[in-house]
Amino acid sequence: MLSPNKDVAVIGCGIAGPAAALFLKRAGWRPVIYEAAQEHDDYAGLFLNVGRNGVHVLEELGLDRMIRNEGFEMRVMQFRNGKDKNLGEVGHMDGKPQGFTVKRGWLQRILREEAARQEIPIVMGAKLTKITTGKDWAEVSFESGLSANVRFVVGCDGIHSALRSRLLPDAPKPSYTGLISFGGYSRGVQLPYIPGVQQMVFGSKAFFGYIVQSSGEIFWFGNEEVPGTPTRKDMLAISQSEWRRRIMDLYRNDASPILDIIANTKGEIGAYPIYDMPPQTSWSKGQAVLIGDAVHATSPNAGQGASMALEDALMLGKCLRDIGDVEGAFDQFQSLRKERVERIIQYSRSLGQRKYATNPVQVFFRDLMMPLFLKSANKDSHSWMYDYRPQWNERLQTDRDVVHHD
Ligand SMILES: Cc1cc2nc3c(=O)[nH]c(=O)nc-3n(C[C@H](O)[C@H](O)[C@H](O)COP(=O)(O)OP(=O)(O)OC[C@H]3O[C@@H](n4cnc5c(N)ncnc54)[C@H](O)[C@@H]3O)c2cc1C
Repeated sequence: MLSPNKDVAVIGCGIAGPAAALFLKRAGWRPVIYEAAQEHDDYAGLFLNVGRNGVHVLEELGLDRMIRNEGFEMRVMQFRNGKDKNLGEVGHMDGKPQGFTVKRGWLQRILREEAARQEIPIVMGAKLTKITTGKDWAEVSFESGLSANVRFVVGCDGIHSALRSRLLPDAPKPSYTGLISFGGYSRGVQLPYIPGVQQMVFGSKAFFGYIVQSSGEIFWFGNEEVPGTPTRKDMLAISQSEWRRRIMDLYRNDASPILDIIANTKGEIGAYPIYDMPPQTSWSKGQAVLIGDAVHATSPNAGQGASMALEDALMLGKCLRDIGDVEGAFDQFQSLRKERVERIIQYSRSLGQRKYATNPVQVFFRDLMMPLFLKSANKDSHSWMYDYRPQWNERLQTDRDVVHHD
């Protein structure tokens, strides 16, 4: 009798990919990661928050010490308007941190290095172009001419997933939220380092946020309302000098230190249109399943995209460990995750909607109402989001692992 095929193709080596490969290996599978990029780019993207729910998954992987040492602990967000008026704050200095802020490339690197340390092969320059799935097999083909026959495929290829569009061509497409995000890293602006505190400014034309690191480096980002359906390609077509000019103009009427921070940016300003995903009916088809941004990309406002990708990786590994058949495990995975991720996507979008305010009347009412909103937001611990704790070592018991929202 042939031994069962344990080979798995994991498509994409961002955050979900290496994390899923690590849990699959623990569950007894033989994953290989296929990544489209020719080389790893540790400077790709800006910075992100890993919520304490995501940190819990890193803990399960033995990587939480690194993020606790390297990350900026997030406890309180202080909000002001463009005239420097205090609008209130969200969070508490005591108790558990909401999470840690790190550079996106750093998080990718520690996951990828752990996968490599555990001898999980990573094939670079492997851009998925085709998938065929059969009764208990799948074949993936790549632009380079490479192909692989496996037991099943895990799509971790991000918001514009090639696997999703080939597997489920009629699935709803990512939807533009109306905002773009831009940001970078500054040095040389003298601002106090306040551990645990992130500054947020509702400017007169656009939103701005920054974190002063103990090294003096400042991580900053902004959000601007932009009509149409801009793409990342459109953003890349704008020169760096044009971005600087345009962003400086946006905050010209707002109180310091915003302009100083932007003017002292070292390296490039990154800019991204913000898309999220409408609810997807199917997360899998035949012997292939989608996880992370490929199936439930969220806007960055709630700081949960990376954490949800990490949670998926653990839960998919558990389902494939504890449920006898692969397709049954995919179905169980979707039913355990769908309600939670859709709630987070919706919550994140609602936070983004507060960042729109383009005319003086809207700005006036926003500043008037914001302290009340922040006060009520501060009462909500968001425990449903941050304290989700799937345990790897417990066997799957669907009624316990299903998320009961409060
Ligand atoms: C500006 C910005 C700010 C963000 N801020 C936050 C935040 O504060 N907190 C947070 O949690 N999240 C944030 N996110 C989102 C976060 O980065 C994503 O949710 C997270 O990276 C999802 O991980 P993933 O592995 O699913 O996808 P990705 O990280 O996008 O990885 C996908 C991988 O697949 C590869 N790939 C693509 N196509 C193919 C193909 N055809 N074949 C093979 N490989 C392919 C890509 O090269 C990439 O390496 C932010 C995102 C952006 C853009």
